[in-house]
Amino acid sequence: MTHSITALIHHPYIAPAGFDAPQPGVFKASTVFFPSVAAMRSREWKDKSAYTYGLHGTPTTYALEERLCSLEGGSQCLLAPSGLAAVALVALALLKQGDEVLMPDNVYGPNKALAEGELRGWGISHRYYNPLEPADLAAKMSPRTRLVWVEAAGSVTLEFPDLPALLHIAKQGGALVALDNTWGAGLAFKPFDLIPGQQPVLGVDISAHALTKYPSGGGDVLMGSVITRDAGLHLQLKLAHMRMGLGVGANDAEAVLRALPSIALRYRAHDEATRTLARWCRTRPEFSQVLHPAMPDSPGHNNWKVLCKEGLGGAAGLLSVMIDARFSQVQVDAFCDALRLFRLGYSWGGPISLVVPYDLATMRSEWPSYLTQGTLVRFAIGLEDVEDLQADIAQALHAMV
Ligand SMILES: *Cc1c(COP(=O)(O)O)cnc(C)c1O
Repeated sequence: MTHSITALIHHPYIAPAGFDAPQPGVFKASTVFFPSVAAMRSREWKDKSAYTYGLHGTPTTYALEERLCSLEGGSQCLLAPSGLAAVALVALALLKQGDEVLMPDNVYGPNKALAEGELRGWGISHRYYNPLEPADLAAKMSPRTRLVWVEAAGSVTLEFPDLPALLHIAKQGGALVALDNTWGAGLAFKPFDLIPGQQPVLGVDISAHALTKYPSGGGDVLMGSVITRDAGLHLQLKLAHMRMGLGVGANDAEAVLRALPSIALRYRAHDEATRTLARWCRTRPEFSQVLHPAMPDSPGHNNWKVLCKEGLGGAAGLLSVMIDARFSQVQVDAFCDALRLFRLGYSWGGPISLVVPYDLATMRSEWPSYLTQGTLVRFAIGLEDVEDLQADIAQALHAMV
């Protein structure tokens, strides 16, 4: 090679192998090289034994997938560009025209929107079941039910369902069970082995997880995962994942790899502070109900106790309050605006506490009988000092009078 610009591009130096350090490297590629045409033709990427194209995996994404499998107790993992993309992948890979999907009425809202939009347009029907009434799920199962979503605790209202009962019903009806495991994060309970030690093992078929929340921990990454234990099911998801071109950026994968070692510590810290605030909120007359699975009168508390308290112990960092119906929407908005440490913003799992007022009536098929009337406000508790957070809520409540 005579020209230095060509030598610069085709540089012969190869760093020695064996670099070993706390964090895995960040490998960035669309193109991956093959040593020969024969290698190009025969290379198999599906079992992660090799590399063919950046979209199909790099050492960075393989490393993240394996660590997430360890966290959740699964065997195979796919990464998607957001939690919602992971949820959508499950539906798009597994449902076909004429199938029905059942979801709890408190499922993550955009999952409902997908069912009401694209899935309906493709001839896939959906129905919502009461997350606290397994008999309601049983009544809605039909030969067309291909997929049953479960979520524990449910989005925004945080009811904790009887997961083992829901799983038995769905499996008896021949449906696959997909869990949105964002709240539990693999730390509140083990999705593939709900009651450790019990035989036969009772677990979900698929765990979808918004890594955007606790695994990222920073409020700065969007990513999702789809974890399975069954190789055939994983392959079906993987082929759809490949055909739809879902992939994640190496720097984002590295950010999650960097945050993962501290996830259990962060989860516990969020959890402890949230319980402290939940107990205090229960003493405040402005709140007619405090929704948090570890509080004794929160809907589904006993289910949480059996699955989580007697298991790993976790309850995450979310807390919702029903602001008494005597306060107007204007007053509730004034309360949220008056908060100083709690910032107005969606999502959760990062260091900064967040607050969102929800219009629950527009989110549910019917107002749940176990909820009081009022306006629901959800807090996502960050990593600030809990006394400061409590003082912030207390001062903002003055804005409501
Ligand atoms: C945030 C969230 C998602 C979606 O994650 P994104 O990365 O924001 O798309 C899915 N499910 C639940 C329960 C969530 O809280």
